[in-house]
Amino acid sequence: MDVIVVGGGPVGLMAAALLDAAGVRVEVYERNSGPSRQSRGSTMHPRTLEVLTMLEGADGRRISDVLVAEGRQVPDAHFATLPDRLDYRGLDSAFPFVLHIPQWRTERILADALRARSVPVHYGAEVAEVTQSADEVRVRVGEAWHSARFLIGADGAHSLVRRAAGIDFPGTEPDQVGFGADVRLAEPVERAQYYWNLAGHVSVVPLTETTTRVFGLKAGDVGLSSVEVRRRQAEPFTLPELLDSLTAICGRDFGAHSPSWLSRSSNAGRHAATYRAGRVMLAGDAAHVHLPAGGQGLNVGLQDATNLAWKLAAEVRGWAPKEMTDGEAGYDAERRPVAEQLVANTRAQDALMHTFSPAGGALREMFSGFIAQGGEVNRRLAGVLSGLAVAYPSPDGAHPLIGTRAPDLPLAHGTLLRVLRPDRFLLLDFTTDGSLAGLTAAHVEVHAAPLPDGPGREAWHDVRVALIRPDGYIAYAAPSPAGLFDAIAAWTTPDHS
Ligand SMILES: Cc1cc2nc3c(=O)[nH]c(=O)nc-3n(C[C@H](O)[C@H](O)[C@H](O)COP(=O)(O)OP(=O)(O)OC[C@H]3O[C@@H](n4cnc5c(N)ncnc54)[C@H](O)[C@@H]3O)c2cc1C
Repeated sequence: MDVIVVGGGPVGLMAAALLDAAGVRVEVYERNSGPSRQSRGSTMHPRTLEVLTMLEGADGRRISDVLVAEGRQVPDAHFATLPDRLDYRGLDSAFPFVLHIPQWRTERILADALRARSVPVHYGAEVAEVTQSADEVRVRVGEAWHSARFLIGADGAHSLVRRAAGIDFPGTEPDQVGFGADVRLAEPVERAQYYWNLAGHVSVVPLTETTTRVFGLKAGDVGLSSVEVRRRQAEPFTLPELLDSLTAICGRDFGAHSPSWLSRSSNAGRHAATYRAGRVMLAGDAAHVHLPAGGQGLNVGLQDATNLAWKLAAEVRGWAPKEMTDGEAGYDAERRPVAEQLVANTRAQDALMHTFSPAGGALREMFSGFIAQGGEVNRRLAGVLSGLAVAYPSPDGAHPLIGTRAPDLPLAHGTLLRVLRPDRFLLLDFTTDGSLAGLTAAHVEVHAAPLPDGPGREAWHDVRVALIRPDGYIAYAAPSPAGLFDAIAAWTTPDHS
């Protein structure tokens, strides 16, 4: 085996699917006896749908298309459950909306895709030990040891892989206990409703035709010691307690009944000190945990997998430059700052959501007003939450597009998102005479494309050639191909310096 993935949650399944699509031999070990039935991360943001367009589902449709067909589209997103919302409609994306879809559906679609491609996903296989040497990693499942060249720990917040690899997980202790439930409502709501007052906050969000996600926090459940939080979290959350909380905060309980999921949550915020130790890498909740605010955890995790998979595939296949394995273009260097920002923005939301006082109310009103103005605050927050504004570092003086994510540009044949694959770069030839059509370079595929124009495409005005990474970020963009061969070599030659 080239790669073992520990954890068959959404992040592990996504990483395995991308590695397989890049021609890497990969298998997944998952301790549960089958795909999860929990709806946990049920908010999917535009960038996640974009990267899921790279992968084919079991029936040959792109995974994003399958998800969109099964989910519920909402044109805006909330920040800190404020009444004024972030408008996604103007985003330059093939998916300018939030998709509500229960996490178990996402996992099932990914698991079906892996089955269709004969990628082994071993259910009921708990990894009990992990070791690594200079040449390989080994995992123990029951009495049997399995080895591979690399290992991805996608085994969630309490990651055994993280501990075995000796990776610290520093952060802040929890000081509050919230609640969440998926229920049926005798009095259903059409659109998401958010309640905030001095008694607490509650959000009521329709998930499917029949199921509604209800989450919130009572004002008395903040400012607790971490010991008290753990004690409370260990107690089962019950329907009567949910109904009482709803009545106390909203003045009614919506006739909630038939819960399919009841849970308590906290606001612990932790971030792995490194995403890579030798041959072991972490992704998703194994690398970062935070207050579930804005439905970001699942999305950032799936994009961790997207950033990691093509680089690891290149390393396995022997064409990864050192810069891409350990350097500034490496997985750790690019993704850790994204999760730093994620943990920070959930802390800011924590303050806006959970300061139950007149001062907290005034702060919410003021911040919501900034969002309502629809200007820079709205644009920036929508960029962060949607994932579209995430960009990776680029050299000083580089073209401003380098490091940013490429939109779904039309090509002579197809569109960018539908020709991206995790095993090759795309060279976009915008020259009118198609002068790059005959170029051949390993791991690069040339596509002629019309000049990008229209709203949001101003930054492309002088670009005649662009090199797009396998994960859809721009590696090179310039008015002429003068520096192109250096750029290709820098990204695809192992001993490049
Ligand atoms: C209660 C709760 C509510 C949430 N609500 C939201 C939300 O509303 N919106 C949102 O975006 N996110 C939410 N999240 C977060 C979201 O669900 C996670 O970010 C997402 O599941 C991360 O995926 P993952 O694959 O990294 O980890 P997980 O989904 O945790 O998957 C890890 C997998 O590893 C397996 N595993 C663990 N240890 C081992 C082992 N030793 N051997 C083999 N397998 C192992 C586990 O069984 C599990 O299947 C919520 C999380 C929780 C816990």
